[in-house]
Amino acid sequence: SPVVVAIDGPSGSGKSTVSRAVASRLGLSFLDTGAMYRAMTWWMLTNGVDVDDPEAVAIACAKPVVVSGTDAAGPTITVDGQDVSGPIRGPEVTAKVSAVAAVPAVRARLVELQRGCAAHAARGIVAEGRDMGSVVFPDATVKVFLTASEQARSERRAAELRAKGLDEATITAMAADLARRDAADSSRETAPLTRAADAELVDTSELTLDQVIGTITALVED
Ligand code: C5P
Repeated sequence: SPVVVAIDGPSGSGKSTVSRAVASRLGLSFLDTGAMYRAMTWWMLTNGVDVDDPEAVAIACAKPVVVSGTDAAGPTITVDGQDVSGPIRGPEVTAKVSAVAAVPAVRARLVELQRGCAAHAARGIVAEGRDMGSVVFPDATVKVFLTASEQARSERRAAELRAKGLDEATITAMAADLARRDAADSSRETAPLTRAADAELVDTSELTLDQVIGTITALVED
């Protein structure tokens, strides 16, 4: 049966880069589930839904058509046919995505789409997020939980942002926002970030990107 590689972890653990690289190397499809929660949030903000009202979010979430491409070479995400890959990375979406992702109806809808993507992946899929191993793919071939020290994560994030040309004040503000989002994702009642009992723990603090990719690839090929 097709391979499912479930990769979970907090933001800044290197999850996205690592997951995409593993998928490319193994010739598997790739799914960034955070992008789907972001796309849903973008649609709500754009359509005047009060994202701090869980009931309004629960009703509205049935409407947008979120489509996620699964090609590791070029991930795509559309909402009602519109490419939203740029706007979903903006600060407005980032500030509100945890609240939207905490609504059970949102999760039910997106989890179904995520399982559909895996079912249609010819050779298998690498899926990354917060609940891949614990909720979405409990029978995954390989489960990985990526961690990194608080310091390593914030340093990586800052380096990424500096490379994009952002100033130090913005970087400091974004670090605070990231800490807030991780706390919210870990403590919420609906699908909190948790390591599945059978997930391999990989601490990336002291590892290079190539080492992390090698470690996970070896687990899959084992
Ligand atoms: O991975 P990324 O940081 O883009 O995810 C954005 C947000 O989407 C997370 O902060 C989290 O609230 C939510 N998320 C989730 N479950 C997933 C993936 C992301 O709740 N599987």
